[in-house]
Amino acid sequence: MKIVVLGIDALEYDLVEEWDLKNLKQRAYTKTDLSDFDIIVTPLIWGSMLTGQKLKEMEEIWRKRKKFFSQQRDVRVKQKQYWYARIASKVLPERVKKFLIKKFVPDPFGVTSNYLVNNPKYKTIFDYFEGTWNNGIPSYGRNVADQKIKKISEMAAEGNPKPLYDYAMNLYRKEKAMLLDAVKRDYQLIFWYTPFLDKIEHFYWRKKLKLLNIYMELNRLVEEVKTLLDEKDILYIISDHGMKESPSKTISGEHSDHGFFSSSTGELIKKPQQLFDIIVEKAKNPR
Ligand SMILES: [Zn+2]
Repeated sequence: MKIVVLGIDALEYDLVEEWDLKNLKQRAYTKTDLSDFDIIVTPLIWGSMLTGQKLKEMEEIWRKRKKFFSQQRDVRVKQKQYWYARIASKVLPERVKKFLIKKFVPDPFGVTSNYLVNNPKYKTIFDYFEGTWNNGIPSYGRNVADQKIKKISEMAAEGNPKPLYDYAMNLYRKEKAMLLDAVKRDYQLIFWYTPFLDKIEHFYWRKKLKLLNIYMELNRLVEEVKTLLDEKDILYIISDHGMKESPSKTISGEHSDHGFFSSSTGELIKKPQQLFDIIVEKAKNPR
């Protein structure tokens, strides 16, 4: 028996539903509840899927940065700010604020991109199986905001989203080929992760036709993977969060407060961290 997880960053439940994408929906599908997370950022949620836990110390790293200046995006719980930050955030220009944050607060994406790799404090789903494959997951060998991505994201925020779009689509094509190759091999657990949709949705959220094409491509990808699987194999599809319209001037989409989950077995989970439980349970009681 083989378990395949397709981790699609920012796959939005409401769009899968609106366009009735049957392959993505599988036998059972649901919204996941993110109310355990005060800050909805990508690595925290993927890390929770891999360990079954909310990673408190990792969350602290984001809190620190949010606290530094009043960046309220992604933060649901109002928190006390340092008094000097409160004053500074009112009087300093954006550019200076960005510079100070970069200089004095560690880049949370960089610091946490390998947080769970060989971390003696946490067991991940990969510790429960013999042969496993993954292509790098936020908190487990992937930085979704490295220097290059930051640069093209800044260009997108300044009105030129094309380089980011091209980068994301190229990465998707490359990693899709890696996935199809891995599924043909003899692994017990395959965890494929793709960040491309999150990158695109932030800037193309109002371009619904473009998004429809991408969602249909993902729907076809599921079919392709399925043809490579046996009847007894298991396929889970999961996203950390979705996307919704943003009032911001520089982006059109921001993270929504729920994720997506579907299974070929009919199983459902309520929270992202429960993915760990249903996968580890299969290692303990193989069918
Ligand atoms: Zn994400």
